[in-house]
Amino acid sequence: MSTTTKQTNILLWHYSCPDCGFSDADTGYHGQTHMIHCEVCLEDNRHVKLKRWPVDHDSSTLPGGALSRS
Ligand SMILES: [Zn+2]
Repeated sequence: MSTTTKQTNILLWHYSCPDCGFSDADTGYHGQTHMIHCEVCLEDNRHVKLKRWPVDHDSSTLPGGALSRS
């Protein structure tokens, strides 16, 4: 009767770079689990950790629709 072993495998993330502002809203695609550092800052040899939070289950996959929530 135990369901305590339920795993939540989060595969997709919203992300935002605190340094340059690069985010999933800019690219139109979500980040993946291995995506830890900002790609834009990496090109400048800066390792900036992205702020990440899980994608909602019912979130729209339409590009540009990510910021419609107010
Ligand atoms: Zn950045």
